Amino acid sequence: MEQKSITINYTEWQEEELEPLWHLLVAAAKAATETAYAPYSHFFVGAAVLLEGGEVVCGSNQENGAFGAGTCAERTALFYAQAHYPARAVRAIAIAARSGEDGFTEEPVPPCGICRQVLSEVQQRAGKPLHILLYGKRCVCQIEGIEGLLPLGFKL
Ligand SMILES: [Zn+2]
Repeated sequence: MEQKSITINYTEWQEEELEPLWHLLVAAAKAATETAYAPYSHFFVGAAVLLEGGEVVCGSNQENGAFGAGTCAERTALFYAQAHYPARAVRAIAIAARSGEDGFTEEPVPPCGICRQVLSEVQQRAGKPLHILLYGKRCVCQIEGIEGLLPLGFKL
C-alpha cells in the first residue's frame, strides 16, 4: 500500500491586481450575469470564455421549469464557443455570480461537477492548461489547469 496526496495550488487576487486581459475577462463574466434566466434559483451566473485568437464568448445560466433541462453559464458559453468556433482552442474562462438582490457573491463561485468534467475535455482538446478565474468580491481565485478543480478526472 502506498498513500499519496494531491496538492492544489491557486492564487487569490484583488480584482484591481489582475493583468488587463484577465480583468477584461472577469468584467465580461460579471456582465454576462445580466443575461441569466434564473427565475427559480435567483442565482445569476455569468461565464466568459477566451478563445485562441482573442475572441471572447459569454454565457449565462438558463433555467427551466423542468429543472434538469437547464444549463449552467459555463456550459452555455463553452458549447456556444465549440459550436461557432470549432477550430479555436479555449485558453481561459472567467466565472462570476450574483445572488438575488445581494449583488455579486462575496466568495468566488467554482463550477459544478458537470461543468468541471466539460472543462476537463475542453482543456484536453486545447492541449494546454486552462486559465480559470473565479470572481468573488473578496478575491478572484485563479487556477491554472482543470486538475486544480477536478483531480483524478475521468478521461476516455
Ligand atoms: Zn455547472
